[in-house]
Amino acid sequence: MKKQVTWTTEEWNDWRWHQKNRVRNLEQLEEWVDTTADEREAFEKTDAVFHMGITPYYASLMDPVDPNCPVRLQSVPSLAETKISNWDLDDPLGEEADMVVPGLTHRYPDRVLFYTNHNCAMYCRFCTRKRKVSDPTSMTNKSAYENLFQDLAEHPEVNDVVISGGDPLSLSDKRLMVIFEELSKIPHIKYCRLGSRNLVTLPQRVNNDFCDMLKHYQSRNLSIFFNTHYNCPEELTDEAWDACDRVAASGTPMNNQMVLLKGINDSVERVSELNRKLLQMRVRPYYIYQCDLAEGVSHFRTSIAKGLEIVKGLRGHMSGLASPHFVVDAPGGGGKIPLSPNYVVGMDEGSLMLRNFRGKVYRYPETELQLSSLTPECLHDKI
Ligand SMILES: *Cc1c(COP(=O)(O)O)cnc(C)c1O
Ligand code: SF4
Repeated sequence: MKKQVTWTTEEWNDWRWHQKNRVRNLEQLEEWVDTTADEREAFEKTDAVFHMGITPYYASLMDPVDPNCPVRLQSVPSLAETKISNWDLDDPLGEEADMVVPGLTHRYPDRVLFYTNHNCAMYCRFCTRKRKVSDPTSMTNKSAYENLFQDLAEHPEVNDVVISGGDPLSLSDKRLMVIFEELSKIPHIKYCRLGSRNLVTLPQRVNNDFCDMLKHYQSRNLSIFFNTHYNCPEELTDEAWDACDRVAASGTPMNNQMVLLKGINDSVERVSELNRKLLQMRVRPYYIYQCDLAEGVSHFRTSIAKGLEIVKGLRGHMSGLASPHFVVDAPGGGGKIPLSPNYVVGMDEGSLMLRNFRGKVYRYPETELQLSSLTPECLHDKI
């Protein structure tokens, strides 16, 4: 019989208790699940490269007997991680090349990505930033922070800061206050988004004190958004919902960035269920990401066709608010490229032929494009 992990209600509601009691080795893992030979060997082989770290809260969502449980697949190492495919890249998004100062990637005209630290409450096995995350020596230090705010102040074209990591919510509220304070002082920074998975892996972190802080820093000069990362319906617990209620009450809009993952959410049914419930929780589905070409995650990767099938199955069939964009973050630093099913199916006598979500075709007149000189193949290039 498994050893039961025990706690008091007070401990369970305290995020620091979860952080201290994270599942970091096999012995601790076995307190939650019957581990398989594959999982045990995978832990030994991967721990040096990418640690296992699971909050008791997230571990409590795992199926103790089913190794294919979607929560377990996201958090417990598997031997498939040791297979590096030909396409895998160490820095799949070329984030180092666009790093203007340490901790800041400036790729798009008006917005930047700010890496606050490289710790996370839970280490996701499919992580794009594996090369850095879980390595405590890669932390952004105090002088790097100073340079970074200096750089932001000197770039009036930047008005949006994506606060990411690792996970910014691994920092204390005090450290986060410094960040909001500094951003609030720069007049051209109009929005920022906290990119955090704590609403999923450690909702206790998103407590009243934290939400009071969000409310305090929301202003006409700086609008704060919370971007999170739910991947499957099993993650939408009452505790998660309570945490989202607290964020919503602080006046902070929430968006979800899901990664398409084999065996976890790769069907229209799974994503519909996730997105419907997210909308109830006032979290708006924002992006579905194609899984990046990070090393050792090929077993999670689905085809692009699968992603297109899913967005086709959502759009029109359910609330537009729950129908996100499907994007591929191009390897080598090309940035996000949106992909959509084809709704322009052809042209006929000065009209475009458009397909609706039911597959019925409708004619719409088009005056700007020289339709007679176009073939259906090059039509998309012109639009
Ligand atoms: C995703 C990303 C952003 C934000 O892009 P949006 O499409 O505005 O969400 C900004 N910078 C980098 C480097 C990114 O990868
Ligand atoms: S929370 Fe994000 S950065 Fe951290 S391990 Fe998961 S995917 Fe990677």
